[in-house]
Amino acid sequence: MFEKRVTKTNLSELGEFGLIDHLTNDIKIVNESSEIAVGDDCAVIDSKGRKVLVTTDLLIENVHFDLSYTPLKHLGYKAIAINLSDVASMMGKPEQVTVSIAMSSKFTVEAIEEIYKGMKLCCNRYGVDIVGGDTTTSTSGLMISVTAMGYAENNDYVLRSGAGRGDLVCLTGNVGASYMGLLLLQREKEAWKANPNMQPDLEGNDYILERHLKPEPRLDIVALLKENGIKPTSMIDVSDGVASEILHIATRSGLGCALYEEKIPVDPATAIMCENFGMNPITAAMNGGEDYELLFTIKQEDYPKIEALKQVAVIGHMTEKEAGVNIISHDNISVPVEAQGWDHLKKKD
Ligand SMILES: [Mg+2]
Repeated sequence: MFEKRVTKTNLSELGEFGLIDHLTNDIKIVNESSEIAVGDDCAVIDSKGRKVLVTTDLLIENVHFDLSYTPLKHLGYKAIAINLSDVASMMGKPEQVTVSIAMSSKFTVEAIEEIYKGMKLCCNRYGVDIVGGDTTTSTSGLMISVTAMGYAENNDYVLRSGAGRGDLVCLTGNVGASYMGLLLLQREKEAWKANPNMQPDLEGNDYILERHLKPEPRLDIVALLKENGIKPTSMIDVSDGVASEILHIATRSGLGCALYEEKIPVDPATAIMCENFGMNPITAAMNGGEDYELLFTIKQEDYPKIEALKQVAVIGHMTEKEAGVNIISHDNISVPVEAQGWDHLKKKD
């Protein structure tokens, strides 16, 4: 983290077209569907009869990220990863992204290069082509917009609205780690502001920091589900917290849901940091967000196939709409999953 940069090239030395060329001339196209990439007025995507999934995200400095503790390379990686996660959450295969960056004159060519390095790293890792974008000036701060395109064969994509009554609710990996990483970074920033000679104390917290600064889209799970012949009935990625996402699935599917607190996977590192902050881990898990895990439902008959996958936990089931969306606590108390209901559970700490 916090690496030093030596060379400082003014953006004006390259000019816009020079900068675009400098940033993109080493991009190698890996997908056949990327017919025309950077260099013309539009990219041309040959979808060959497949369904095209399109998603976009805009990241604004001091709203979505804080450069005082976010390395630029990580920021670039994350900007791509969160868009690929949205494609993954539809069971799609991402193949192209376009990238737009607006920055003030305080940013050097080397700084933008760092962002691009992170973007290329994520694209290479997941076999995605950067096929276009824009770079422009901003009067204040840095803005990054990424649009991702992904594909699904015919009707292979999965919506939020397809859950059925009795379907099992599944969650990949673990949740709450990213939020605890964020709280740690914010705490160390405040300590540093109070005493600038102090070094940030981030030792031994690599896992939660990485979960926040460099999340991974769960495209491995998409592949795994396909390999095992499991087609989720509904799916969403965890960007705003499990509470918010399960409410989306339940509302869009016209159902209720029962989740079990004891089944929600939380990493030990997350639990330790929660204790540090005097927080209930379930609060971080349910309301933290930015985990980019996949929350999905499956038919009960697929349970044996899911049970065999160690990356996936079954955390509840869909109920009739009238029952509402609830979480059953360790001591068997049913609490509605909603802003107030959740505060109520928090007060029990
Ligand atoms: Mg999403």
